[in-house]
Amino acid sequence: MLIDSHVHLQDKKFARDLDRVLDRAEDAGVERMICVGDKTESSRRAIAMAKRYPRLLATVGVHPHYDALFTPKTLFELEALARDPSVVAIGEIGLDYHYPNYNAERQIECFVAQARLAGRRKLPLVIHCRDAYDDLLRVIREDDRIPRHGVMHCYSGDYEQARALLDEGYYLGIGGAVTYPNADVLRDVVRRVGLERIVSETDGPYLPPQIKRGRRNEPSYMKHVIKTLADLTDLSYQDAARITKANAIKLFGLPDRLDPSAVYSIRNKLYVGVTNRCPNECYFCQRHHDYIVMGHFLKLDREPSAEEVIERIDAPTQYGEIVLSGLGEPTLRWDVCLELARRLKELGARVRLNTSGLGSLLNGRDITAEMAGRFDAVAINMVAHDRETYNRIAKPGDPDRSWDAMLEFARNCKKTVPEVMMTIVAVPEVDVEECRRLAEDDMQVRLRVREWEGRPSEG
Ligand code: SF4
Repeated sequence: MLIDSHVHLQDKKFARDLDRVLDRAEDAGVERMICVGDKTESSRRAIAMAKRYPRLLATVGVHPHYDALFTPKTLFELEALARDPSVVAIGEIGLDYHYPNYNAERQIECFVAQARLAGRRKLPLVIHCRDAYDDLLRVIREDDRIPRHGVMHCYSGDYEQARALLDEGYYLGIGGAVTYPNADVLRDVVRRVGLERIVSETDGPYLPPQIKRGRRNEPSYMKHVIKTLADLTDLSYQDAARITKANAIKLFGLPDRLDPSAVYSIRNKLYVGVTNRCPNECYFCQRHHDYIVMGHFLKLDREPSAEEVIERIDAPTQYGEIVLSGLGEPTLRWDVCLELARRLKELGARVRLNTSGLGSLLNGRDITAEMAGRFDAVAINMVAHDRETYNRIAKPGDPDRSWDAMLEFARNCKKTVPEVMMTIVAVPEVDVEECRRLAEDDMQVRLRVREWEGRPSEG
């Protein structure tokens, strides 16, 4: 289940027992490891290892501590090494102003040259940054040849710096340091950022988690990092493992396959996707992006039958709620929804429908009466505060009737479903307060606002 996104297995500290280290990694569920270079020679060794062990991949680069070793010939060598198919990123490269007598100008020069190489090779960056985040951000923002795709390895800045890096497009790499007693700032960053832009790493042989302090760090210790990430974000260990793994697959373009999920759990809820079709085309929708939500790949290879879904749900009452949702409009398969809701209610589950609210329009009749006794709750994607903005954001198939149909659906649901909620994604065009007035004052239903961070959302 795990990917160690940053480890130095080519370090001589692993020379004597590498096979045992890899066996322990496998036993701990670490299925892939990215071997990171920090000099030309260690980059070469990372590639050699990746060729020998299929679970390893490599990166190539020169760390800012070794800026004195970086010459035009080095760049030429790295460019050749980066062509190897095992190489998935350029790094670790960056800025480190922690120790006295650093040469900022020289470090920036080396970083920019290597970052531009990543741009030419279309590879992500693995960035090392210590006490230099402001300079790093300035350099990145001033140079459009530096890819906005990569990871801030062993992140050690504050929340504002994290936000700025995320806004530029980078991921944060979090390792054993998050378990240290004095890492309150880092833990605060993880709590506030959430896991959707975090990859986990060990940085072995360095920075072991607190419980292994004083020992050589290795990939099998990553479970301690995942456990802390899960605790900080109020997720299960499985959730944190799956999300950080999917992030690493996306970040490095790894060959690992994410299996399509029609039935998937997040925290104590179970979600069911019955279709990827939708009459709307909300521009923020994950359907236009990579279909990955909280580490689950929601692009269906085919639409499942009610029977297939029921077979995949083990003990429905173990979940706080079962939500007919997914990336698509469930009411396009209304018969399947009704059958699922009926069977799940019989089994004692609480059932919710997440919908665009266009079910009655799509089915040519008022379907809300059919929801009575089958659905405990419904969440309706209101999208916007008025018709014009709704049409601009959601681009509905039927722009003349969709806004009114959605509102009428919500009003009718109040007669048959115990809990009705409207939802919005707070994209810039939306007047959140007007949505609140419409939902809470006019319609007397709760409004749930999902923050917009400039990235796709499941709506
Ligand atoms: S966000 Fe929901 S309503 Fe909008 S396009 Fe995506 S699935 Fe359809």
